[in-house]
Amino acid sequence: MSARMYYENDADIKALEGIKIVIVGYGSQGHAHALNLRDSGVDVIVADVEGSDNWNQAVSDGFTPLSAKAAAALDGVGWIQLLVPDEIQGKVYEEIRPAVEESSSMVLGFSHGFNIRFGQIKPPSNCDVVMVAPKGPGHLVRSVYKEGNGVPMLMAVEQDSSGRAKELALAYAKAIGGTRAGVIETTFSEETETDLFGEQVVLCGGVVELMKKGFETLVEAGYQPEIAYFECLHEMKLIIDLVYAKGISYMNYSISNTAEYGEYSRGERIIKDETKEEMKKILSEIKSGDFAREWISENENGLPEFSRKRAEMKEHLIEKTGEKLRGMMEWLR
Ligand code: NAP
Ligand code: MG
Repeated sequence: MSARMYYENDADIKALEGIKIVIVGYGSQGHAHALNLRDSGVDVIVADVEGSDNWNQAVSDGFTPLSAKAAAALDGVGWIQLLVPDEIQGKVYEEIRPAVEESSSMVLGFSHGFNIRFGQIKPPSNCDVVMVAPKGPGHLVRSVYKEGNGVPMLMAVEQDSSGRAKELALAYAKAIGGTRAGVIETTFSEETETDLFGEQVVLCGGVVELMKKGFETLVEAGYQPEIAYFECLHEMKLIIDLVYAKGISYMNYSISNTAEYGEYSRGERIIKDETKEEMKKILSEIKSGDFAREWISENENGLPEFSRKRAEMKEHLIEKTGEKLRGMMEWLR
């Protein structure tokens, strides 16, 4: 099954005419959405925390920010895009809930599905619930837009009260540059479950443990930590940049034949069938909501395990070694 894609001709920014859009949270995503929407001729209001750095940034970018509650209550608001950190979206939603419940034509927008998928936000049936999720960090969403291009985006409709939810979501995606690159249709469940899986198994959990255990193995065998750092962490980027730009076969073509043979003959001894079985378990914990419950309760308890692990990571020899070596890399400063 391959995904449905939408491009420039599949969307019309005019669908947003007469709709005041509130961007709640002027952070990584928020600033990019707000600036791109404004440049596309859309009526945008910014909400953030008064006096914070991002509030001041919004002011210097020419917005007149308000609190989430005050912005949501303005006349003519027809779309509220929640771009505050996922852990606090439930709390911030309580501030805008009256506006959402009282309006007869509100779009509630997200860029990640966690709070809807795991029931932390339960919107009333009289609003549209949509997702427009750039597959890139905010600064890229903004810089690429200014160059006349866009980053690919995901789009989903969870609730369609107006009968126009998809048309509206595509218009929003177009206004922030998404249809220039391509917008893929998904669901809140698919986006949320695959996002969590990717970060836990491959991108963050998997990659960090792989680098750390490789580094530890060399250091415990008596090799110098500086050398181990280069081999197990620093060079990761060189390899990933090749894979990212041109695919795995091209990366294999540019490394030595020795490295390529090492990959074919040893890789499966490191990431084994058992590892894949564990991946399946992690996926089922995500789908059942066990992970979400664990993470929500960790937040409610003041992040004890999270803080302990974070402190432990900072003290690891790979981090101490990296700090010193990166000091030698002028181009990183
Ligand atoms: P972020 O950079 O941490 O920015 C969040 C912003 O929300 C900050 O400006 C923060 O204010 C503001 N904020 C906090 N509490 C608030 C409140 N009560 N009222 C109004 N504003 C408040 O967040 P982000 O990374 O852009 O993430 C936003 C959403 O986009 C999340 O759902 C995330 O999953 C999704 N997403 C992120 C990325 C990414 O690359 N970052 C990519 C795709 C999707 P101050 O800091 O000024 O206090
Ligand atoms: Mg992700």
